[in-house]
Amino acid sequence: MSTFKAPKGTYDLIPPYSAKYLAVRDAISGPLRLSGYGYVETPGFEDVDLFARGVGESTDIVTKEMYTLTTKGGANLALRPEGTASVLRAALEANLHKAGGLPVKLWYSGSYYRYERPQKGRYRHFSQVGAEAIGAEDPALDAELIILADQAYRSLGLRNFRILLNSLGDKECRPVYREALQGFLRGLDLDEETVRRAEINPLRVLDDKRAEVQKQLVGAPMLRDYLCDACKAYHEEVRALITAAGVAFEDDEKLVRGLDYYTRTTFEFVHDGLGSQSAVGGGGRYDGLSEMIGGPALPSVGWALGVDRTVLALEAEGVELDIPPTTSVFAVALGEAKPVLFGLVTELRQAGVAADISYGGKGLKGAMKDANRSGARFAIVAGDRDLAEGVVQLKDMESGEQGPVAVADVVEVLRTKL
Ligand code: ATP
Ligand code: MG
Repeated sequence: MSTFKAPKGTYDLIPPYSAKYLAVRDAISGPLRLSGYGYVETPGFEDVDLFARGVGESTDIVTKEMYTLTTKGGANLALRPEGTASVLRAALEANLHKAGGLPVKLWYSGSYYRYERPQKGRYRHFSQVGAEAIGAEDPALDAELIILADQAYRSLGLRNFRILLNSLGDKECRPVYREALQGFLRGLDLDEETVRRAEINPLRVLDDKRAEVQKQLVGAPMLRDYLCDACKAYHEEVRALITAAGVAFEDDEKLVRGLDYYTRTTFEFVHDGLGSQSAVGGGGRYDGLSEMIGGPALPSVGWALGVDRTVLALEAEGVELDIPPTTSVFAVALGEAKPVLFGLVTELRQAGVAADISYGGKGLKGAMKDANRSGARFAIVAGDRDLAEGVVQLKDMESGEQGPVAVADVVEVLRTKL
């Protein structure tokens, strides 16, 4: 143990557990890579105003959860709390929206930082895979993203998740609703902070998890009744396309989500085995965000799925991922055999076989222990006498069977056996 520990609210990914994270990232990004999404990577920190403007001054993320810092040069930066604002910033900066046809489809994977109260499923450093489709207003694009996320979760073997879907309206109909809701909220008995929230972002009050607030919200005006015809038609098309794809969802007219930039389609993936941190991912349409950060009008849609909570969901469902063993062949060299076996291991690796060798000058017993621990299916064992005969002993670690194989044939024999 060293003097230091991982900071509060963070944890390390250690083998073999860490392999699950790689598998989850692969499973989420796989469907995107097959659907025209290109990989984008942006810095871990950005100008703090990008998030203040892009995520929203009234959100928990901006008011409470951002890690901000001032550089020696005086720049105000924030560790990124989410991906969308950065990805859109990068696309605008590279003029991707002018380079070819729209939408620009991008996916990303990385670390995000929020100063939250740590608990199971809620960390200060966590990991997301996300997708953004920038510059097109088309219900099929919203549907595509929801279908791809569903496909990703299913490919992992997850079953007990639900898709919640709502429409938040657009700049025509939402302000009218906002006013109606504010009028209703002003008549309630709410604490000071909630009263303030009702003035800045009343829709977020609907999302309040406290029972005493929810009780008062019965009878609140619902956005569904205020949606303009264009928003209604758009939403019906999204619903029809998802339904036609065989993806089940639930209409949730109270679904708001914690970011200010969403318009129209909004959705969340929840898993019922996770307790209060039940959201494994979410997203929606953000038609106004580009203009909010100084770009042209670029209606867009995207989602971000949490890798940490997806791993917890897999555990909650008891899903065992099919993760290949890290080592298939383990070499045990005795006497002067090390250089020859080291060469064979290099050749095996070049041939795509996962191979490893015992290090540190151990004897037969210690080296065989290493071979067992590696989980390898086969061991190749050789000492001076074997090499004098031009062979190594090939041992099947499952059956225990062992026999000589000519050094020149080892790679080929193992490739056919594995
Ligand atoms: P919540 O309502 O749980 O706070 P959120 O609305 O803040 O979630 P988003 O900003 O939509 O979450 O992020 C998308 C996903 O990223 C979440 O569904 C979740 O899986 C994951 N996520 C968000 N914050 C955290 C965190 N602090 N720790 C672990 N995962 C997180
Ligand atoms: Mg949150």
